[in-house]
Amino acid sequence: MSAVQQVTVLGATGSIGLSTLDVIARHPERYSVFALTGFSRLAELQVLCVQHRPRYAVVPDDASALELQSNLRAAGLATEVLVGEAGLCAVSADAAVDCVMAAIVGAAGLKPTLAAVRAGKKVLLANKEALVMSGALFMQAVKQSGAVLLPIDSEHNAIFQCLPGDYARGLQTVGVRRVLLTASGGPFRETPLADLECVTPEQACAHPNWSMGRKISVDSASMMNKGLESIEACWLFDARPEQIEVVIHRQSVIHSLVDYIDGSVLAQLGNPDMRTPIAHALAWPERIDSGVSPLDLFAVGRLDFERPDEQRFPCLRLAREAAQAGGSAPAMLNAANEVAVEAFLQRRIRFVDIARMIESVLNAQPVQAVEALDAVFAADARARELAGQWLAGR
Ligand code: NDP
Ligand code: MG
Repeated sequence: MSAVQQVTVLGATGSIGLSTLDVIARHPERYSVFALTGFSRLAELQVLCVQHRPRYAVVPDDASALELQSNLRAAGLATEVLVGEAGLCAVSADAAVDCVMAAIVGAAGLKPTLAAVRAGKKVLLANKEALVMSGALFMQAVKQSGAVLLPIDSEHNAIFQCLPGDYARGLQTVGVRRVLLTASGGPFRETPLADLECVTPEQACAHPNWSMGRKISVDSASMMNKGLESIEACWLFDARPEQIEVVIHRQSVIHSLVDYIDGSVLAQLGNPDMRTPIAHALAWPERIDSGVSPLDLFAVGRLDFERPDEQRFPCLRLAREAAQAGGSAPAMLNAANEVAVEAFLQRRIRFVDIARMIESVLNAQPVQAVEALDAVFAADARARELAGQWLAGR
């Protein structure tokens, strides 16, 4: 590897964004920051710009752009501040960019991530919602442009590491029987069912093993995260839903496994720190230091496994049904979940209402075919509208 790679970090102010910048800063001879983007944490974005000196920064509106631009000039930086979705897409597709970390949370990340894919970049995908929403169209765009899509989600990164290099020939062809997706079970794995009625956003966001953004923390508590990840795995590895099995593994040391027809089961293990999959994908097919401490198996002591309980975690069933229904269903599931999680974080609904609201949205609208991106955004908008009505009707 010769030239320094230019990296755009979409969602730089978030948990994945910061971990990505931590890894990049360890390897200045390999990576340089081309662009950083933020949304609400703009003071943090400014600090990151001073540290990493990107060519561009992207913010959501003109007023914040003016402010950040003048602050950066005053700090002696040549960084140019761009605005909104057009700015996000521009820094994803710029001819000077080699690699894009897609770490915006939710549907807001779809267009900029697709812009990177269409421009044939190396795309590190953390923003699972983008792939869940637009599955077939997203993967078609990857094939057409020749983009290199590498999974950041720890489970999918683990599966990628356990699969042979030619897995695109088909899982069955390369001898894979099943993919085992591990899940920690989140903070409510053992909470008495009756107590789930009154759990708070703070309890939901207090994940036992991982430190993450608030939306994915709530998704982990409801296990919608594992539902979204099952759909993500189907698209990334061209798997059928029945080839994916969810296993609760509370230590979060095994990040996922691949079960082969000869009885071999390959797993990827490591401390639960996102810098490992980030460093893996950044350097792939090489290996670099991530700053993560070595796994101490003696300290881990034991590895436990159990079956998930769909009565406790109805979101798992809703995601499976949406995957089976296909078409507009996954986009609607995702959008309804985004609205429900936000409402729960704002204390407008209870934790147990998240699944109820999503189910009601999905039942209110027949599944439609999605042949173009417009249909994906229409399904997303319709689900948000129905979710809004559900909220208003309570
Ligand atoms: P955070 O909430 O910590 O960060 C989200 C990022 O997206 C922030 O930079 C935020 O900006 C930005 N953002 C939010 N809304 C918008 C918007 N409307 N337009 C543009 N930018 C926006 O989330 P995480 O880092 O935890 O997660 C990011 C993605 O990675 C998610 O899709 C998540 O599922 C996935 N992921 C995360 C893991 C983790 O360990 N954190 C593990 C596996 C996957 P600002 O902060 O300035 O508002
Ligand atoms: Mg994950």
